[in-house]
Amino acid sequence: MVKRDTILFGVLDAFPHDQINAENTPTLWSLAQEGGWAPGGGRAILAASTYPNHATFVTGDDPSRHLIYTNRSWAGGEPRPAEEVGPATSTLFDECRAAGRKSLAFFGDQNLVGVCGAEKADEHWPPRGVLPDDAAKGALGYGADRAVIEGLDGMDLADAELVFFQLDEVDTARHLHGPHGDEVLEQCRATDAALGEVLERFRSRWERTLLIVVSDHDHEAVDRGAVDLAAEVRAKGLNLRVDHEGTAALVAGETSRSELLALTGVEDAALLAPGFHLVWGPPGQQYGFDWGLAAQHGSPRTMSQLAVAAGGHPAAAKIAREIGAAPPHATSWANRVRAFLDLGDGSEPRASGSGARS
Ligand SMILES: [Zn+2]
Repeated sequence: MVKRDTILFGVLDAFPHDQINAENTPTLWSLAQEGGWAPGGGRAILAASTYPNHATFVTGDDPSRHLIYTNRSWAGGEPRPAEEVGPATSTLFDECRAAGRKSLAFFGDQNLVGVCGAEKADEHWPPRGVLPDDAAKGALGYGADRAVIEGLDGMDLADAELVFFQLDEVDTARHLHGPHGDEVLEQCRATDAALGEVLERFRSRWERTLLIVVSDHDHEAVDRGAVDLAAEVRAKGLNLRVDHEGTAALVAGETSRSELLALTGVEDAALLAPGFHLVWGPPGQQYGFDWGLAAQHGSPRTMSQLAVAAGGHPAAAKIAREIGAAPPHATSWANRVRAFLDLGDGSEPRASGSGARS
């Protein structure tokens, strides 16, 4: 029997890229020493939020193609929960299935099953994006790292060629306690240990394995209250739709930079695609509603991503050199996976509704 190569693609949600050291994160530190890392971090796509960046990780596309601009998809012109729609372009799971390559996916944030189109993997967890009643959960209701490892242990790992996973708990800790501090450091240690447990399941095939570990976004403190941009746009009678997204907001519709900069609580704006701007305000300000969280993300100030490459496969050394030399962009990872698994050139539009669970 042919022994297959394996690519492990792990996302440590919101893991701070600059907290890798021998004392606190021995797993990541030893991986960075064995392979390599981006010491200054990689770069997220905007909005610097969980679902847009995960959709980018699995498609290689930016939101103008996969249409998950915020934690909602704008496919069809109306915002809908991204987990109900999935990316508008083909994912690594679609492409593995078409090529007859076995893929597995498991997530702490249960919504990522739908966001990433991971129902198309050979196995995924949690089933159909619903956490089992007995699964351990974090304070914000997502699967705890321990539950994710139990989900992994229910899978048949033999001959898996793509293994994609996400550990959520650092994101929850930073939202609740702030971008940095003792509680966050403690959670970083725990998630680093959980990563080590995941990797133990693959050590017997390490010489045939390429490991990529990234995070999706950083965090920033929010201590200046919230601006309800949707209410202001309504009050001014502007024909625009606003989608609040942490420390950024998506503005959909025909507008101009000068019109956006005239709004209260808007300091800068970026055009993501025709008819879609992202705006953000001064440090400390969030949009929409003050959820009582200590930290949020979404703005360009939270675009740093952890990036580590390791493993015994020869491709690991090449990628480690690349990310050490230049900050990797979120869009670059899917094509590295495609090259490793010989999946072709890039994503294509998906058949309508192929990602929908609803
Ligand atoms: Zn996230």
